[in-house]
Formats: sequence, C-alpha cells, structure tokens
Amino acid sequence: EYIKIKRALLSVSDKTGIVELAQALAARGVELVSTGGTAKALKDAGLAVRAIDELTGFPEMLEGRVKTLHPNVHGGILADRDKPEHLATIAEHGIGPIDLVVVNLYPFAKTIAKPDVTLEDAIENIDIGGPAMVRSAAKNHQGVAIVVDPTDYAQLLSENDGDGVSLTLRRKLMAKAYAHTAAYDSLIASYFEKQFVEPEAILPTTLRLSFEKVQDLRYGENPHQVAGFYKSSPIHGGGGGTEACIGNATRRDDSGKEVSFNNLYDLDGALELVKEFPDAPTAAIIKHANPCGCAQGETIAEAFVRAREADTISAFGGILAINQKFDLALAEQIVGLNNFLECIVAPDYDEAAIKKVVGGKKWGANLRLLQVEGIAGPGKDGYLLKQVVGGMLVSTRDYRPLSESELTVKSERQPTADELSELLFAWRCVKHIKSNAIVMTKGRAIRGVGAGQMNRVRSVRLAVEQAGEHGPGSVLASDAFFPFPDGPEVAAKAGVTAIIQPGGSVKDDETIALCNQYNIALVFTGVRHFRH
Ligand code: 5GP
Repeated sequence: EYIKIKRALLSVSDKTGIVELAQALAARGVELVSTGGTAKALKDAGLAVRAIDELTGFPEMLEGRVKTLHPNVHGGILADRDKPEHLATIAEHGIGPIDLVVVNLYPFAKTIAKPDVTLEDAIENIDIGGPAMVRSAAKNHQGVAIVVDPTDYAQLLSENDGDGVSLTLRRKLMAKAYAHTAAYDSLIASYFEKQFVEPEAILPTTLRLSFEKVQDLRYGENPHQVAGFYKSSPIHGGGGGTEACIGNATRRDDSGKEVSFNNLYDLDGALELVKEFPDAPTAAIIKHANPCGCAQGETIAEAFVRAREADTISAFGGILAINQKFDLALAEQIVGLNNFLECIVAPDYDEAAIKKVVGGKKWGANLRLLQVEGIAGPGKDGYLLKQVVGGMLVSTRDYRPLSESELTVKSERQPTADELSELLFAWRCVKHIKSNAIVMTKGRAIRGVGAGQMNRVRSVRLAVEQAGEHGPGSVLASDAFFPFPDGPEVAAKAGVTAIIQPGGSVKDDETIALCNQYNIALVFTGVRHFRH
C-alpha cells in the first residue's frame, strides 16, 4: 500500500513551493535530483542536489530541449518494482530507481496568452521531456508517485506521518497527471489548429473545450441536482480571456454565503444586459434569467430606482447589475426602499456604500457583492453552448450590434429622433428576454415585459398589462417578426407610438397597414434575436 521515497526527481517550471517541498524531502533523507533551473533554485536555498547530467552522463543540450530524455531517467521511473527481471535489468545498467517525480510543464498557456507571442516562442514552450516523465511516472504508479500541481505538495508530505505515499493517493495523482498532459496537448492542438489547419473556421471540426472547476456549488438548478462552476479555457471559452464576465468576478462582501447556481446564471444575464449600454448609467434587475427592469438615469442610483419601478413585485429578491461604481446614493436607495436583493454585480464599490447596504437591513448581511472590472460593450468571443442529452449544440454568441442606418421605416409616419433612440434602447433590451420576447420602454426604462410565451400576441398582452398607465407614449420591441397584426393591435390600443421588429413575415403588409391606421412609426431591423 505505501511506498517509501528514497530518490526524487524535481523538474518544474512553476517553482511555487518547490524549495519547501525539497527541504521536507531532504529532511527525510530523500536524495534529490534536478534539472538546471530547478537545481539552481534548490542549491540557492542551501540544499544538496544532484544535477540531472550527472545521472544521464550527458549535458542538458539543445537549449534544454533534451534534458531528461534518457534511459537512466526513464528506466529508473518505469522499472516495475514487482518484477525481478526489471530490477535486474536496471541494476545491470547501473540505473537507480526514482520513486517520486515532481514535474510541471513549460507554461504554454501563459505564452500564447501574450498579445505579442511569436510562433517560435509558442513552439519553444512546448514541453517534451516533462510530459514524458509525467506519463512514465503515472504509468508506473504502482511503485512511483507523480505530482504535477504545487497544491498537492502538502498532501504528499502528510501521508503516513510523511513516511510513505499510499496507493490511494498515488492513484489519485496518476489520474491528475494524465489529465494534466491531456489538457496540455489539447491546448497545443487547439492553438495550432486555429493558426494553420482551420484558420478560417469559426467552428472547428473538433471542439476541444477545457473547463476547470473553480467552485463546487451547494446544488444545481434544484436541490436534488449536484453542481459546480467551471471556468472556460482562454482559447475557446466565451469570456475565458479578459472580457468582463462572471467567470472573472471577485467578491467584495464577507458574508461567507455562496453564490448559487441560479444566482450565477442570473448574474450573467444581468451583466450581459448592462454591457449593452456603455455610454450611460444603467441598472438591470434579473429574475429567473429575464429582466424585470432595466433603466438609465442621470446617476446610477436614479437608474436603479427607475429600473425597479417597472415591476416592484418581481424586483424583490432579484439580481442587480450596474455599469458604474456602486455608490452611497445607490446603497441608500436600496436600503430605503427595502428592495431585498440576492446579489449585485458592479465594476467597482465605494466602501461606505458596502457598509451601508450590508448593515442596512437584515438581508443585507447575506447580500453577495461581485466585482467585474472593465465592463464595456457586448462581448463576442467564444461560444454559446447548449447541452442536449447525447450531444451539444454550439453557436457563436448573439453578437449583432445594430446601427441606425440599418433600420428601414415601413410606416407612413417617420419616427421622431427621440422615438428612434428609445426604439434602439428597447431593441437592446429585448435581446436579453426569453422568446417570444416583447418589451415596452419609455424614457429609457423598461415598462412592460412579455417573456417566454409560446405565442407573440400573449407576450404583447403581458407587456401591456404590466405597463398599465405607462402604455401611452411608450415604444415596443419584438425579438422576432409579428406573424399576424394581432400583437401590434393590442399594442396600438395600449397607446404604443412606435414599434421595432425584424420584419419578414408573409403578413408584414397587414401589420404595416395596422400601424398606419394608428399612426404608429414602424421600423424593421432585418435582424432577429431569439433567446431560448
Ligand atoms: P528547469 O527550470 O529545471 O531547468 O526546467 C524545468 C522544466 O523542464 C520543467 O517544466 C520540465 O517539464 C522541463 N523538462 C524536463 N526535462 C525536459 C526535456 O528533456 N526536454 C524538455 N523540452 N523539457 C524538459
């Protein structure tokens, strides 16, 4: 079950914790063997280390490309301790067994993340000998321990009072080692595929997504589902790079309360919505992945108050995203209105504002505050992934900015300048509402939402009902075309003055006629924003 470590080979690019590990091993009488840079770090710390070239009888050569690729290394790692003939063979060749291999690989991911990376740089950062040792040691885990992650050093040293490594741990480390080399080669493959094999392909033939678990979640969408949060790799994952996104968020509260699966999903929705409006203070409140409010204001506090007004019932227990610093005025509004919120995401926080909201109401102590820096316009990198049982549906993200010049006015009446900018505000909101999506807005604030209905006219009725007295003078956006003039007729009777929609229905003429009858300005975008 336990193996005792007599000789260890240490060869790491990330030197975090390596000196402490080596000191602990040396104190237990373990002989240390090491490659150039690692050996130097250990010697500088006053440790006795054998250089790898002494073991191989060859100097490290070709700028480090060949250091450990030698039978004296791989024989020492791969010899099966349970086979007398293996032990005899290595003895015959004067090869000593190696019982512990500590390796982490050349930093390929970091290298290609540099904006000015050259091909030579990338290639030179492909580790050859490292993965070979990792795979050798993992294969022979019956007799050898393999460690690829500095966070595992402590556990390695803690086993059996530090006097041995159990089979259970060796098996766990073995699996981790293969995961490490698999992810490493997978990243290399993705990188070169993107450069040379399918440079024009937006969707590659093989999608080598690599996600790393950053957090176990208490449960999934429901308490009987197990869940975690995985961050996507920088190459293929949306927002895996530097984009302001929930994957890059940090916490600003110290409630200690976890952000749940549903919170994270709603936070993402809220943040994506406010990203649409980089040029004005904007607040969005999300419930069950749909906005129940989104508004602009002179200040961020005013934007929040206006966003909440759209639907004060639904805003209770919601998720708030803002695109400006969370300040004291906003904190006072939230506490004053006793608008219970689950989580807030903002680009920055004022310390006094945090204190105010956290200490203001009972629920404030459980409020989770997330910070995401650099909130700019909508992001377009990465993919939209939807899992179906037995496969995955993949598309690019719904990134399609719309400029005023792309709009076609279909009604007799031209929209006024103010109607036009209100229509564009509504259009950016409707993209973030589940289909069939209808939104009514007035004064750069949502006033009515119809979401997730199976027919469009019902969504219009819901939006109109919610807008109530704010219906007259509002504008309406529809995420897809009206198949019949019935939806626009409900809107017209509620006092809507302008409508924006993709157009393209066989019955467009009937809708246009209806709008003319009610003096509504009707604008087509030619773009659809279904969201399921
Ligand atoms: P050091 O900083 O100790 O000089 O080098 C450590 C790095 O070299 C580790 O990342 C390890 O994976 C890598 N390495 C060890 N042996 C070889 C080899 O034979 N060829 C190449 N290319 N890399 C190696």
